Amino acid sequence: MATEPLLSVVVPVYNEAEGIAYFHERASAALKALDGLDYELVYVDDGCKDGSFEIMRAFAADDPRARIVKLSRNFGHQIAITAGLDYARGDAVVFIDADLQDPPETIGRLVEKWREGYDVVYAQRAKRPGETAFKLFTASFFYRLLRSVANIDIPPDVGDFRLISRRVADVLRGMKEKDRFIRGLVSWVGYKQTAVLYNREERHAGETKYPLRKMIKFALDGITSFSTAPLRIATWMGNAASTVAFIYLLVIIAQSFMGVTVPGFASIMVAVLFLGGVQLICLGILGEYLGRVFSEVKPRPIYIVEEEVVGGLSAVEKSVAAHAAHSVGLIA
Ligand code: UDP
Ligand code: MG
Repeated sequence: MATEPLLSVVVPVYNEAEGIAYFHERASAALKALDGLDYELVYVDDGCKDGSFEIMRAFAADDPRARIVKLSRNFGHQIAITAGLDYARGDAVVFIDADLQDPPETIGRLVEKWREGYDVVYAQRAKRPGETAFKLFTASFFYRLLRSVANIDIPPDVGDFRLISRRVADVLRGMKEKDRFIRGLVSWVGYKQTAVLYNREERHAGETKYPLRKMIKFALDGITSFSTAPLRIATWMGNAASTVAFIYLLVIIAQSFMGVTVPGFASIMVAVLFLGGVQLICLGILGEYLGRVFSEVKPRPIYIVEEEVVGGLSAVEKSVAAHAAHSVGLIA
């Protein structure tokens, strides 16, 4: 049998028990429909606590095209994708969410562009039903901020739903930074990139696994790993505060010449608080970067795999072999 090119589809899964079986069904149908292409579905169990793993193991047992990489705890979406990428063997790799917000049928259009010779094909959102106005506003603000502040061009309204070629996947695997902002790293790599427009659908089941706390961490990772502009904000604020303080000094001197002798308690407090505030902000910004340096210098692996499940029936032997082959990539 002539070997067809292999497409790896990486699916990060965090507590998706309600929808994961349906996802597998729909994604498999969409992938089977692609001509001249074999596929594998690499599910990354990002520390699910709701029985998603058992559901996935059940459908993987009958499906040699499914594999599960079970992480030892919840490492977060971006790291789950990283783990899936390390285990993906395909000539091209697609990242897709498990909640069917990114329709698997779009993968065919990503593949078409890849066949035309593009190395990165991102799916750009045209419509996003079912998302709160707050999420839409913060997302649009964030992408625009990132564009103006980062030294690289990250296209707006693009998530991690995208296809990357094997050579981009290999470059990405070599980037071992701990605070990962995958869509930024992919833009940074370069090569021929293009977009395909799609309509983002509503979540099929369950709730978003991105609470505000995770969104803020994600946004900070994005900005601080691609830009040193916030460090400059500190300098500007310091300059502004000193300028204001200097002008105020002149005012005080002038006043004392004019015989104004009752200096206001309030004005002193304002000056002290203002400068204190500026200093704390600057310390915070420095701390943000220092924290990142700290996490980069610790030689810890990015993620820990607890178990790998290879789909199909002869699962046990395959699992042992695949595990041995991959444990090298595991220790970052
Ligand atoms: N996810 C994950 N780890 C996490 C949070 C989310 O693997 O800590 C997965 C989740 O199961 C889904 C994808 O990442 O497949 C995107 O998450 P979600 O749909 O909750 O984000 P949203 O679409 O609301 O931005
Ligand atoms: Mg979602």
